Amino acid sequence: MIKIAASEKRHGRPKLGQHFLVDSAATARIVEALGDISESTVLEIGPGRGALTSMLAKRSRRLIAIEIDRVLAAQLRMSFSQEPNVEIIEGDILAIDFQTLFGPKPGSTRPGINHQPEPVRVVGNLPYFITSDILLRLFEFRQYFETIVLMVQREVAERLAAGPGRSDYGLLSATAQLYAHLEELFTLPPAAFSPPPKVESAVVRLRMAPKLDSLRVPEADFIKFLKLSFGQKRKTLSNNLKAQYEPRVLRAAFEKAGVKPTVRAEALNLEKTAALFRALSGAGTAS
Ligand code: SAM
Repeated sequence: MIKIAASEKRHGRPKLGQHFLVDSAATARIVEALGDISESTVLEIGPGRGALTSMLAKRSRRLIAIEIDRVLAAQLRMSFSQEPNVEIIEGDILAIDFQTLFGPKPGSTRPGINHQPEPVRVVGNLPYFITSDILLRLFEFRQYFETIVLMVQREVAERLAAGPGRSDYGLLSATAQLYAHLEELFTLPPAAFSPPPKVESAVVRLRMAPKLDSLRVPEADFIKFLKLSFGQKRKTLSNNLKAQYEPRVLRAAFEKAGVKPTVRAEALNLEKTAALFRALSGAGTAS
């Protein structure tokens, strides 16, 4: 872990979600949740002061850590300058070009490092305010990723893992479960961080397992359909869908898919939602 000189000491910048992990047992549990990484490339999101980075550097074949904060990125680069398997990139995880980083490359630029595409394991104690954006980006580039272990706000972990019919099942749960198998691993109190956040935290593991093929749905249109379905939480599913489909078309599709017209989106599992989507595909829209 990076030692911060007294003169450089500053509190975490809340606008970057800087709450640094100070619980070494939790650090070990997070790294272990990635499984055996000795032959893997690991992507760390927001390494900060390096709480996870040191252990990841020791255990992984190759580590790429992306930190947006210029000062922290520079300090990390100095700390790991003697570690040939570690690459610190100063950058925004929401803008990083994963294609260039992990896509196929002819030839090799660093000796001893295999640049062929391979599934990457992702880990991060996330800046909580951009959790959904980060997840959506990882899903978008899912062909590169295998296992993802993330520290998120506890409520977000619960929403991610919630099954249909639970009050916290929503767009985030449906989207995450469309792409991955999800496990809630353990929770952590604010005292595990410095400065402590105002909320409890939880670690989740996602194993990429996209269901688009088995549900027989095209990705972009089905995502749009999910957004429309969960548009207004208080409305029934058919009322949310009315913005785009004629009532007559909706009635026929609900019947064909075997879905009650009074149901709310959060009551339906992905299979039923996909059946409704397929029944509506090709049917006339309202606009
Ligand atoms: N991994 C460290 C730890 O566990 O102590 C730091 C975790 S802290 C909750 C989140 C880190 O993400 C901070 O270092 C912050 O500067 C960084 N960060 C915030 N937004 C980011 C972004 N868009 N891209 C990359 N890093 C970001």
